[in-house]
Amino acid sequence: MLLRMSSLFLRTLREDPADAEVPSHRLLVRAGFVRRAAPGGYTWLPLGLLVLDRVAAIVREEMAGIGGQQVHFPALLPREPYETSGRWTAYGDDIFTLKDRRGADHLLAPTHEEMVTLLVQDVTSSYRDFPLILFQIQTKFRDEARPRAGVLRGREFLMKDAYSFDLDDVGLAAAYDAHRAAYQRIFARLGLETTIVSAVSGAMGGSASEEFLASTPVGEDTFVGCTACDYAANTEAVVTPPAPAVTAEHPPLEAHDTPDTPTIASLVDHANAHRLAGRADWTAADTLKNVVVRAGGDLVAVGVPGDREVDLKRLGAALGADVAMFDDFPSRPDLVRGYIGPQGLGLRYLVDPRVAPGSAWLTGANEPGRHATNVVSGRDFVPDGVVEAADVRAGDRCPACADGELTIRRGIEVGHIFQLGRRYTDAFGLDVLGADGKPVRPTMGCYGIGVTRCVATIAEQHHDERGLVWPRAVAPADVHVVAAGKAGHVQAALDLAAELTGRGLRVLVDDRAVSPGVKFTDAELIGVPTIVVVGRRLAEGLVEVRDRASGTRADVSLASVTETVL
Ligand code: ATP
Ligand code: MG
Ligand code: MG
Ligand code: MG
Repeated sequence: MLLRMSSLFLRTLREDPADAEVPSHRLLVRAGFVRRAAPGGYTWLPLGLLVLDRVAAIVREEMAGIGGQQVHFPALLPREPYETSGRWTAYGDDIFTLKDRRGADHLLAPTHEEMVTLLVQDVTSSYRDFPLILFQIQTKFRDEARPRAGVLRGREFLMKDAYSFDLDDVGLAAAYDAHRAAYQRIFARLGLETTIVSAVSGAMGGSASEEFLASTPVGEDTFVGCTACDYAANTEAVVTPPAPAVTAEHPPLEAHDTPDTPTIASLVDHANAHRLAGRADWTAADTLKNVVVRAGGDLVAVGVPGDREVDLKRLGAALGADVAMFDDFPSRPDLVRGYIGPQGLGLRYLVDPRVAPGSAWLTGANEPGRHATNVVSGRDFVPDGVVEAADVRAGDRCPACADGELTIRRGIEVGHIFQLGRRYTDAFGLDVLGADGKPVRPTMGCYGIGVTRCVATIAEQHHDERGLVWPRAVAPADVHVVAAGKAGHVQAALDLAAELTGRGLRVLVDDRAVSPGVKFTDAELIGVPTIVVVGRRLAEGLVEVRDRASGTRADVSLASVTETVL
């Protein structure tokens, strides 16, 4: 591969884009890897696509290595399968839905458990067809409450989703372990430093579940690790309270209305006057703005980003609660117990009598009329953002070994593995003929990697103040040859580039008619791991080889440069 900067479809920027909050977003745009095309939607330019393809290739290789077979589903799907699984509603506002010209409901798939189950039902018939691992690298659509940070959280993004089918739990455990090991290899090859943490299973359902979190300060997930043992968990998993069942002694929710506009103070008064009295030690604070706060030692907050985040933080401070980001509320029915939220001009709150004395949930909702279902099922609850105040604090004792202390870090979820069990095979009645002639119902696992998110996460973990610093395995090129000087140097640079390409290297050559300073700045911004400068000392038969990561420079003879950079 030989790319000439003089004709490359590329425009680098000296200034940070105004909307970019995190380093990867800033640098991927400035270095000309991606351009924003729509809210939560990005166009991949040639350099970016080279990286994306390399990431996808590594993922594909490792999936094939554990016996995965690649398929490709449509993104545009009819409603029925998702209705059958319950996810048409369970996914809430996170799915994009649309109607075709006949008025039939469709969706843009957020993941493909339903379709893969139907496909396997369609194609297999006997125990001999198992075990089976199918995967795809395909575009997913999610109407994220808060698309952010460029391709880190898009509304349209590339995901590797894999699905395993086994005839028994032992098989499922083996498939899960194989994926776990493959993910460790994938992230190591991508140059990503990740921690495996216990996770909650989200809208997917299922039991055993772990996330691969790449630690970076801009991560939206918070996770704890133990100083003494290998316990690590997403704080979402740590705080999970047991969801009490609705029984005769534990009746369902009750609704109360107030005439007030929702301020924390009025809400607290009203709540205390009703069922919340004695259940929580509410503390008055400023204005309730779609916020859930912690109180009585057992309460977590939900809020919205932007200016309201400030309110939320103030509120958290007033209540002595930590406030962090949490955007997965719809999939946490166990968290939604009682809640309070604005409804029109008034206020309606629901109290769950099952909530233990001394604790209660207080949440805000911005969707009038949805409250009852919000609380009862926890599924329709659509916060327009944020939050979580972890029940854990640095210093807390480790719940696993009770010996060590917990440390808290932030990370980006780059991968997620689940043991789904028979949730989908039950929903679709997928049975195959067993060895004994009786029908067997396969059990499933599902395994995701955010392929586009990985590109941004690598950029988060590999950059400096001058630009991107790609690990070679995913870099858009192996070598960046810079012609820095007189016209003759361009030809020499092109000759060298041709020689390197001939040796199987992927080369980007800067043959533009711009100053060496501009070329060096761009080379450091783009972040190809090895930069070869064809410049001043060419007359002596020397070029300079620079290592982008360490900054080391060495003069090397033209004759030996290929060996040096190979
Ligand atoms: P998150 O908690 O970040 O919203 P998720 O738990 O909803 O992610 P999964 O359903 O587990 O995501 O999907 C598998 C993988 O797809 C995730 O681990 C993540 O790497 C990636 N992913 C999910 N949502 C997005 C998104 N909006 N943009 C980019 N990648 C995403
Ligand atoms: Mg999500
Ligand atoms: Mg998640
Ligand atoms: Mg997940």
